[in-house]
Amino acid sequence: MVYGDLLTRFCSICGRLESPEMPLVDNLCWDCYKARNKMIIVPKDLTMEFCGSCGSYKLHGNWVKPKGLGDPKLSSAMEFVEEHVKLKGSGSLRALEARGIGGGRISVLVRAHGTVDSRIPVYDEELWVDLKVKSVVCPRCAKVASGYFSSIVQVRAHGRPLTQHELSIINEIVEKVLNSEFNRSGFTLNYKVEAVRGGLDYKFDNFRLARKVAYEIYKRLGALIKESHKVIGFDGSRGSRISRLSISVRLPSFSMGDIVNFNGRIARYEGFSGGKFLYYDLESGVKGSVNYRDAWHGNVEINIICRSNELYSGFVNSITDDGVEVVDSSGRVYKALKPSSFNIDVGNHVNFIVFNGKTIIVSKRRGFIER
Ligand SMILES: [Zn+2]
Ligand SMILES: [Zn+2]
Repeated sequence: MVYGDLLTRFCSICGRLESPEMPLVDNLCWDCYKARNKMIIVPKDLTMEFCGSCGSYKLHGNWVKPKGLGDPKLSSAMEFVEEHVKLKGSGSLRALEARGIGGGRISVLVRAHGTVDSRIPVYDEELWVDLKVKSVVCPRCAKVASGYFSSIVQVRAHGRPLTQHELSIINEIVEKVLNSEFNRSGFTLNYKVEAVRGGLDYKFDNFRLARKVAYEIYKRLGALIKESHKVIGFDGSRGSRISRLSISVRLPSFSMGDIVNFNGRIARYEGFSGGKFLYYDLESGVKGSVNYRDAWHGNVEINIICRSNELYSGFVNSITDDGVEVVDSSGRVYKALKPSSFNIDVGNHVNFIVFNGKTIIVSKRRGFIER
């Protein structure tokens, strides 16, 4: 067409003719324009600091753990590149894969989806972006390597060693807290546990973690918590004091299953829940509780009568209207009252205590063949 010929323009680089489907952009066809104007803009000298001991990398001045799974160095490189590569025009940017290319360098494949110019429809652009990886020890790991921990949680029990049951609960708590904090922050959490005389010392490099562990032990076991700070130095670069946090976590004198005199009641301690020490009154068969504050402030009389692992045991020899006769392994006969909240039969094996001349049956023993 005559008019058409007069109006037809062509790409000044490749000579391709303009068409209604592809109007030229700045005198260039779309392909030539895209080739000269990249969506993916790579800053010069991309260098990532990476800590090999915890697998974190430095991003905008902070040490962070890569969110991606798999090799932490490659994941870190991908996230680092995503953060540092810029997008010209409009669209989104994503790192697809990474690979080591030797010489302390990693190459990351980046894909941009969008357009560099609004006159050109959306397209994909891919580019392998190289970055240098500098291996360093992050400040956290440096602190740990030097044996520094900012906080210590000292777990002890009042006048007795910790029981196996308590130790397993405490370990479970520490693990749970560490896991939840790791998921929240993505930081590797450094801690150390030391068995010391009378209990355990947990060392953390994080105040929050220490406090959380102490609080959880309080909630589960009714521990008494006391915090103290000690100034151990001065951080000139930050103009602040460096202090160490000590948290004393003290478990009560009684533990699960112990027979305790709670304000005159002979009871079995059944655990801590809802801010209360729960017990089971062996004589009346009624459940009761002692408030946390009352117990720790000495407002309630509490004496240990018998530890859970020191109960007498024997079998029921006879049951009459006036009571139960129990015989221990040496043949000694005890006269006890009938338990008020559970049934026993002749031949049952039972645990019992003798207190103030009274024999009180505490529980039936499981795992015994009745005879
Ligand atoms: Zn062209
Ligand atoms: Zn580290």
